[in-house]
Amino acid sequence: MSDALILLGPPGSGKGTQAVLLAERLGIPHISTGDILREQVAAGTELGRRVQAIMSAGQLVPDELVNAIVEERLGRPDCAGGCILDGYPRTIGQAEQLAGVLARRGLHPVIVNLAVDYNVIVARITARRQCPACGASYNLITNPPREDERCDRDGTPLVARQDDSEQVVRQRLEAYERQTLPLVEYYRRAGAVFHDVPGDEGSPEEIARRILKLLGKE
Ligand code: ADP
Repeated sequence: MSDALILLGPPGSGKGTQAVLLAERLGIPHISTGDILREQVAAGTELGRRVQAIMSAGQLVPDELVNAIVEERLGRPDCAGGCILDGYPRTIGQAEQLAGVLARRGLHPVIVNLAVDYNVIVARITARRQCPACGASYNLITNPPREDERCDRDGTPLVARQDDSEQVVRQRLEAYERQTLPLVEYYRRAGAVFHDVPGDEGSPEEIARRILKLLGKE
């Protein structure tokens, strides 16, 4: 049975960064509901139009929309050997739906819970920048571009994600506390394989190594 690695943790805890590193090391797909939703918004699809305002307010989009996205994605052949879920599930309803989908697909849930202090989170997220041309990510504090707020690869001026302003970050943290934090208890109670990992001790590569070790994949 292959593992579905579920990354839990508040926004800005480094789930996306870890998902990229782990997907590369483990050779399995990285599924980010945030990225998929942002692609829909950018493409101006019907789904994108429905979720745009919700996302820029830092709130969660309705369960049935993300559930459908993830169920379709997990049904593709590249997930048969395992996958990494980043930003999903985010509510008990999503976790319940996911449990059924994973069981049908023969995937075994393994939880990695990234813990990071909220003050660190706000500082991290508000310093986050992205290249609108190639998608490269930067952080003005921890991973700054060589030239002032321009992409190292193509020189494009960097931008912040619309929902990365301090005010919206606070809203996202509140959504996390109210809707997503209960998942920690949910998975512990369900007896799932569960690993707690500090998300602010060491470089992203060091944290990834620690996770791989816990998974017995080092
Ligand atoms: P972060 O983890 O940094 O908050 P994401 O890229 O995972 O960022 O998510 C950005 C936004 O996309 C969320 O604030 C929310 O509006 C929406 N979103 C992503 N995943 C989900 C999900 N599983 N359920 C509901 N909304 C989601």
